[in-house]
Amino acid sequence: MVLPTVFADAARRAEALGAPALGTRTSLRVGGRPDFLFEPETEAEAEAVVRHCRDAGVRLRYLGGGYNLLVRDGPIRGAVLATRRLQFLEITDTQVRVGAGNSFPGLVKTAIELGIPGLPGCPGIPGTVGGVVFMNAGGRFGSVADALVEVTYLDPEGASSRRVIEAGDLGYRTSRFDGCLVTGATFRRDPAFTQEAAQALYDDAMKWKRETQPLSAKSAGCIFKNPDGPEGPRSAGRLIDEAGLKGAQIGGARVSPVHANFIENTGDATAADVHALIVKIQRTVFAAFGVELELEVKTW
Ligand SMILES: Cc1cc2nc3c(=O)[nH]c(=O)nc-3n(C[C@H](O)[C@H](O)[C@H](O)COP(=O)(O)OP(=O)(O)OC[C@H]3O[C@@H](n4cnc5c(N)ncnc54)[C@H](O)[C@@H]3O)c2cc1C
Repeated sequence: MVLPTVFADAARRAEALGAPALGTRTSLRVGGRPDFLFEPETEAEAEAVVRHCRDAGVRLRYLGGGYNLLVRDGPIRGAVLATRRLQFLEITDTQVRVGAGNSFPGLVKTAIELGIPGLPGCPGIPGTVGGVVFMNAGGRFGSVADALVEVTYLDPEGASSRRVIEAGDLGYRTSRFDGCLVTGATFRRDPAFTQEAAQALYDDAMKWKRETQPLSAKSAGCIFKNPDGPEGPRSAGRLIDEAGLKGAQIGGARVSPVHANFIENTGDATAADVHALIVKIQRTVFAAFGVELELEVKTW
């Protein structure tokens, strides 16, 4: 088969790099080696990778910063497209357009200067812009959804598309971009949102994060979504804590003593350790409270 030039270029780079074990690319520091790893530098290269994998019947997965992923230990069949080189930043008086591979913490800092609502309330959320849009990341002080106006993406066939965000496109840690590759996102600027107000929001959110979450541990952030309860969402962390599991450990994986909805890799954890601990937490919480905890973290 004759490969399109652009795909051949990306394939050559992938071969030269060799596919690393994904434990080197995920914050939990676990995960095996995929058959192929592509790191396109342009949307055209990304499109060629998507189309070629589809035509060749090769399963393709998308990797952002790897901050919300649990990847299995063994070989990962198929290809991974990492977005970290898909970077750009375009600023106008009213909007900021940013690449999927740009650092989200970097964008949060920029948002303070440029007056992008919501984002200054998201410090301490690691990842890429594509990853946070796909996950609709956020928390009690702000969310990606607060200022997101448009997303560019490749659909599962590799066709380039653009969507103005509407109510219902983003849910609790979900988005309508399942199976698509987010390539860029546009956020609105609000002249009424002053740098002082943005900085104050950032400082409050960062203080809360530092006090409540193990930010320097090797983790994937919250493992479970907060389940619905009769009086609104219940804290998954509190349920795990009240089930007596804070500090529980299997192999090198431990329920964080700081925040029970975080699992930490204490040094030599495998993905199997983390998975076994997840199952133990789900069974214990169900036995204690009759609540089924659903994963927030994505698993490969
Ligand atoms: C210490 C810590 C604190 C955290 N705090 C928070 C928090 O407060 N709130 C919160 O919401 N999250 C939090 N997280 C989780 C994480 O920061 C977010 O989920 C973030 O969105 C992950 O982005 P990523 O680029 O690393 O995505 P990845 O982990 O690489 O991928 C996550 C999912 O997104 C998909 N994906 C990635 N990029 C793209 C793309 N361009 N197009 C399509 N799909 C894509 C992947 O296939 C995967 O399914 C925290 C994590 C850590 C480690």
